[in-house]
Amino acid sequence: MSDTDMKNTENGEKETVSRNFIENEIDRDLSEGVYTTVHTRFPPEPNGYLHIGHAKSILLNYGLAKEYGGKFNLRFDDTNPTKEKTEFVESIKADVEWLGADWEGRLFFASDYFDQMYEAAVKLIKKGKAFVCDLSADQIKEYRGTFDTPGKNSPYRDRSIEENLELFENMKNGMYKDGEKVLRAKIDMASPNINMRDPVIYRVAHMSHHNTGDKWCIYPMYDFAHPIEDAIEGITHSICTLEFEDHRPLYDWVVRELEYEYPPRQIEFAKLYLTNVVTGKRYIKKLVEENIVDGWDDPRLVSIAALRRRGFTPESIRMFVELCGVSKGNSSVDYAMLEYCIREDLKKSRARIMAALDPVKLVIDNYPDDKVEYFEVANNLENEELGTRKVAFTKELYIDREDFMIEPPKKYFRLFPDNEVRLMNAYFVRCTGYETDDEGRVTLVHCTYDPETRNGECSTRKVKGTIHWVSTSHAVKAEVRLYENLVDEEKGVYNEEDGSLNLNPDSRTILKDCYIEESIKGAKAYDSFQFVRQGYFCVDSKDSRDDALVFNRIVSLKSSFKL
Ligand code: ATP
Ligand code: MG
Repeated sequence: MSDTDMKNTENGEKETVSRNFIENEIDRDLSEGVYTTVHTRFPPEPNGYLHIGHAKSILLNYGLAKEYGGKFNLRFDDTNPTKEKTEFVESIKADVEWLGADWEGRLFFASDYFDQMYEAAVKLIKKGKAFVCDLSADQIKEYRGTFDTPGKNSPYRDRSIEENLELFENMKNGMYKDGEKVLRAKIDMASPNINMRDPVIYRVAHMSHHNTGDKWCIYPMYDFAHPIEDAIEGITHSICTLEFEDHRPLYDWVVRELEYEYPPRQIEFAKLYLTNVVTGKRYIKKLVEENIVDGWDDPRLVSIAALRRRGFTPESIRMFVELCGVSKGNSSVDYAMLEYCIREDLKKSRARIMAALDPVKLVIDNYPDDKVEYFEVANNLENEELGTRKVAFTKELYIDREDFMIEPPKKYFRLFPDNEVRLMNAYFVRCTGYETDDEGRVTLVHCTYDPETRNGECSTRKVKGTIHWVSTSHAVKAEVRLYENLVDEEKGVYNEEDGSLNLNPDSRTILKDCYIEESIKGAKAYDSFQFVRQGYFCVDSKDSRDDALVFNRIVSLKSSFKL
């Protein structure tokens, strides 16, 4: 198989589509008849919320299953009884579903297979391929050797099959304390791969499990459990991240010794990292527990729940993951690329409306007091399908404070004394004066309008600036939250001295008195809009109410990122 394929595009042209290395491997497996179908899975450990890196894994696994007409399972890897929480199970299901990865009812828990795993361990013992070991954890470590020196055989390695069977059953029956005995695979203490030096496959742990309760006091280790889970489910390609590359010989050993008819194979790819962004579950957990952020879905985080709350769409995340590609080399991607993707998705699909985030009042002195005019305005100039809306115009408006200056610098084309600008879609106005408070802060801008410039059009003269506005009597008051990186980018994510995070103290700005044009009324959680010149905003799903809207800024309009 070649690295590229020809695909027909909609208009019949041939387009060269490059295949990633996993697709090449699968193509080969299928052509050689190693497998006749493709079955993948996403196997999260329910010990936290999923993040953008997991989204890559989900979309990769799901995408491959779809591409080859195969199946995709969602499986909770809950072999570790200490950390799992039902809250995490529910959030993970919601996130995978939101991303559009349909597991079609194939939702499994590794803990559902504990009986089969126990049987598998017994099978290994019967084959003389596993033994019960009494060494302590420290001794096992010591006997294991290092990268440069081979390990030493455990003195318990040559126990008879009968003795091992009896001891393992005793382990199961709760006759030993935690750590007193373990079951180990009997492989090769001299292997250059440390993972093959008689790894522990079962341990004693007197702990309740969220799914199996107190049924078990022995639990299988990940490297033993995972290939069994895959094999039971008929997974063909077990796709995981690079840190498991050195574990692959053990994965292969387990499926070979257990003699599965259709052994799955493991393929590794590089994790997705974002530059200057906290992605590790461990760190996010710390931020949540220390109340530095407001929970796992705080919009400053890159957990999937947080991205959704911030206003990212599944389409934007899919595009991002596709742009990142799949590789074997670890690298880090700029957050700006994620921003690029959401802008691309929203720019043609969302209405562009007016909002004054830092409002200052503007009064048109020659406009009738009680008059209300409605201007018909296109919702999105790039997408006619979004239609038009009517925007109310009155004598008193709010404009953004930064659109007026008493003493403007050069090339400032917005409002200042004696200057004329266009009020977007409405009229030309000329500034005739302003009022300030005791501290010199502008409280009111006076203007006059020219009735001949209706719809912002004029054949006799031009203006250089156009500013947005909202009617004070029609606008809706709202809270708007602006975000910056949680991390101090100058310093990098981690403090080298103590491993703590370098936090940016100004990562969130809350603006309480924003005014948005009245078309915003009725906006619901997750609805998003472009606010002219300010960026894209999304109704917050937690704190917003019908009569007190709260918005998150998803992203500003400007971009430094170029594809
Ligand atoms: P973390 O510690 O980064 O939060 P994890 O590896 O402990 O993640 P798991 O629940 O074990 O989280 O991961 C489930 C799947 O997601 C695994 O197959 C894992 O390889 C994959 N995965 C985790 N992090 C990333 C990442 N940054 N990029 C791509 N895939 C990832
Ligand atoms: Mg993990």
